Amino acid sequence: MKKVLFIDRDGVLIVEPVDHQIDELQKLEFIPGIFTWLGKIASETDYELVMVTNQDGLGTKSFPEENFWPAQNKLLKALEGEGVVFNAIHIDRSFAEEKLPTRKPGTAMLTKYFSEEYDLKNSYVIGDRITDIQL
Ligand SMILES: [Mg+2]
Repeated sequence: MKKVLFIDRDGVLIVEPVDHQIDELQKLEFIPGIFTWLGKIASETDYELVMVTNQDGLGTKSFPEENFWPAQNKLLKALEGEGVVFNAIHIDRSFAEEKLPTRKPGTAMLTKYFSEEYDLKNSYVIGDRITDIQL
């Protein structure tokens, strides 16, 4: 069975800005140690790495796609350089007030992991918010 590390993005891999939105490259700042330690996890363990992130209003006027992807792609490329490749990336684009089941701590984006293929008992969520703990 496969074990998974469900990894939050903002506040874990990169610094979350005060306005919670990384919508320009200038705002992209890596969390210290992330390349060393995630690289170690990737090379020395057999966890699948899965990014799970809430990006409020992505694709709407308040957070256009073209402002999101440059920083996201730069992050992925930098991690890839250290051997860190995500098996899957799940992005919820809703706002908290919509209360969608896809938004963390909801699990509607993650139902494929609820199968006998996955060892959820030995899988973990790494995040910085209460909603990550709840997930
Ligand atoms: Mg976070």
